[in-house]
Amino acid sequence: MMFDQLTEKMAGIGEMLQGKKKITAASVERALGEVKRALLDADVNLKVTNGLIESVRNQAVGKLLIEGVTPDQQFVKIMYDELVKVMGSQQAPLARSTKEGEPVVILLAGLQGAGKTTAAAKLAKFCQERGAGVAPAEEPQPEMKEGEVWTPPQREGPPGKVLLVAGDVYRPAAIEQLQRLGERIGAEVFAPGRDVDPVDIARGGVQYARDGGFDAVIVDTAGRQVIDEKLMDELVKVKGACEPDEVLLVVDAMTGQEAATLTAAFNERVGITGAILTKLDGDSRGGSALSVQGVSGRPIKFVGVGERIDDLEPFYPDRMASRILGMGDIVSFVEKAQKQVSEAEMAQLSQKMMDATFDFNDFLEQSKVVRNMGSMANVAKMIPGMAGKLSQQQMDDAEDRAERADLFISLMLPEERTNPDLLIRDAAALQRQRRIAKAAQVRPQDVAAFISDFQTMRTMMSRMSKRMAPGGDMGGAP
Ligand code: GDP
Repeated sequence: MMFDQLTEKMAGIGEMLQGKKKITAASVERALGEVKRALLDADVNLKVTNGLIESVRNQAVGKLLIEGVTPDQQFVKIMYDELVKVMGSQQAPLARSTKEGEPVVILLAGLQGAGKTTAAAKLAKFCQERGAGVAPAEEPQPEMKEGEVWTPPQREGPPGKVLLVAGDVYRPAAIEQLQRLGERIGAEVFAPGRDVDPVDIARGGVQYARDGGFDAVIVDTAGRQVIDEKLMDELVKVKGACEPDEVLLVVDAMTGQEAATLTAAFNERVGITGAILTKLDGDSRGGSALSVQGVSGRPIKFVGVGERIDDLEPFYPDRMASRILGMGDIVSFVEKAQKQVSEAEMAQLSQKMMDATFDFNDFLEQSKVVRNMGSMANVAKMIPGMAGKLSQQQMDDAEDRAERADLFISLMLPEERTNPDLLIRDAAALQRQRRIAKAAQVRPQDVAAFISDFQTMRTMMSRMSKRMAPGGDMGGAP
């Protein structure tokens, strides 16, 4: 899974500095050497890596020599800030239409197989959810205090009307693929056919969207196996024909460093406004996420995290940095969950998670939410303490365990569900656990393991909320 090794190494580096009262320039150098190796191993671009190391060194050496502060936490905090900066600091929002009453025009480019057609459909769904009407340019992310995480405001109103334009006339079946995807999400597809010039398709599509009162038009274009002049020429023409508000390059994270250099090349030749980094759920080492902005000067606006239509997320540098450092991504987690339950329910649930007062009923509720959110793998990455620590096997086991958990909870007495301590600290806790095991026809230790997981999760949530709180090492100023 992405960043596994990097995350693991970062934890090791933290440990290297842990417990030291005073830290010498030499040990900073040793830690930095490790960080550098970890970044390069994760396929981060050399220039980006060197810049980051230099920056961390400049801040770390002076700071860490101050007595009375824990150097490992300071080091991690400096790393965190630098990682966020390298990735562009703030979430770069999708453009709005600059012309009153006209649809926002989004052009997608990329090499064959990068996931362009899939991204077109995912983005269409995103625009549908963003809503109808030509709103003013999206509010930029406000200036944040250290450690604060920005959540965009919830949107309301009717769904956006989105047109998909099938401009990939070269790849066999690309048009049919887009038509199928469009049908699935209820978006109209403009597809005059394979024998029409892509430039005319783009121009015609945008005109059709203007005339039809669409809110957004997304133009899919042809990709090639490799970058070549003909492709670039054609893209420049297509761009000229449809005057896009947004030109997004779709790049595959699995290509490692190539993703960043490709973004730079397209930007130079065609002029792009950002990138969509796909397949971040795959086996990539994640370095591309760290390199794109630094190498190309263009932000990653979205990341693809799976093959399903819903598997597209806006790219948040701060959240990604937390993931890399193994701090999980509680914000994405809560946001995804928000889509599944009402805001009021969610507020209550997350408060309980933070306070570590949630009981087994909440657990049931939460695991229902989690299961609606996608695969265990995607969800686990976001949970503090779990990020980077689970293998595929462990993940599969986790799915099984989740089913068991439902069973165990269904066999609990109402008072046990609302008061987990009856199963943890009560004198008769063991007997209670055995009763459940017997009814579920499992070994008592299986029930005990579940209870212990439940307990660990509560503790982690509470620890995380303390770290995020003002005065905590990830929080604002005390
Ligand atoms: P195109 O040639 O660029 O249009 O590529 P496609 O959209 O057809 O995607 C190529 C393959 O990558 C398909 O099998 C997609 O399902 C898959 N794919 C696209 N995006 C993602 C992603 O974010 N994660 C994963 N795991 N697969 C993806």
